[in-house]
Amino acid sequence: MMKSWYWRVAAAFLGVATLYLVAAAPASAGEVNLYSSRQPFLIEPLLDSFTKETGIKVNMVYLKKGMQERLKAEGLNSPADAILTADIGRLHNHAKAGLLQPVTSSVLDTNIPVQYRHPDGLWYGLTVRARVIFVHKERVKPGEVTSYEDLADAKMKGRVCTRSGKHVYNVSLLASIIEAKGKEAAADWARGLKANLARRPQGNDRAQVKAVFEGECDAALGNTYYMGKMAANEKEPVQKKWAAAVRIIFPNQDGRGTHVNISGAGVTKSAKNKENAIRLIEFLSGDFAQKIYAERNFEYPVKAGVPLHPMVASWGEFKADKAFLAKVAEQRITATRIMDQVAFNN
Ligand code: FE
Repeated sequence: MMKSWYWRVAAAFLGVATLYLVAAAPASAGEVNLYSSRQPFLIEPLLDSFTKETGIKVNMVYLKKGMQERLKAEGLNSPADAILTADIGRLHNHAKAGLLQPVTSSVLDTNIPVQYRHPDGLWYGLTVRARVIFVHKERVKPGEVTSYEDLADAKMKGRVCTRSGKHVYNVSLLASIIEAKGKEAAADWARGLKANLARRPQGNDRAQVKAVFEGECDAALGNTYYMGKMAANEKEPVQKKWAAAVRIIFPNQDGRGTHVNISGAGVTKSAKNKENAIRLIEFLSGDFAQKIYAERNFEYPVKAGVPLHPMVASWGEFKADKAFLAKVAEQRITATRIMDQVAFNN
């Protein structure tokens, strides 16, 4: 009788102790499932830090392509709580397809400038890149090219290279021109740029700098971080030569500023771990993550006051187009139509 009473108390105590231990263990903080089209090398170290800080486990699925199709097919059964992707075009398309849900967070509103987030919190920018002009150091004289408009001017006939006019980066750039100057002016620009091309649009942004290096053209459109990726490329050192052949022009400094774009994040409509997803995005917008996230890919932090990678800093300060990216994104359909109208890729 005495023995049984003793064991019952002991068992109850152990039960409480076990419950307490489970509650205190990091595992109870739960998890968050992330679909990312951003490369693992960029964000894995940050996800590890996030888990250390919060106890929240991050399960990341890297999807180089097809994220939107996958989320659509999975519907509300999707395991994804949050997405990470690059370019306003992709963020906007996920939002328009009804795959993201609104988020309110004073942390995100404080860390992320208003032009780099969706007005209803469907997506948030986390890193910034500028779409600049890479010009040959000698063949393009100082002051010869200072704006996107210069690329469409007759003086650049046969001297410009670019990737496809239908690629998200170029569609977003054209959308920013529509937002700034209207449809007609944007169509004229696209027509003028096409008339100046040294070759049919092809390859990626780096391939254009290679073409400048090889003398095929004198000026090319490209995103800033590619300069860093080429100039510091130990795997393919020939890219250092491509980078060394050009200098960066931040266009339209006397006017609306250089077109910038973002990589960003959103919480999915299907999220089962919504609070954890918000915490993860908040973490990525904070000083610690911002520095590492931007540095690793030679991008600009979205949060003000975060130090730049020394090479990025060496490119100098520039004035960015202040247009709200959510508004610019609304012009993407028109931009795509213009690219077709002017037969940009033909
Ligand atoms: Fe890119």
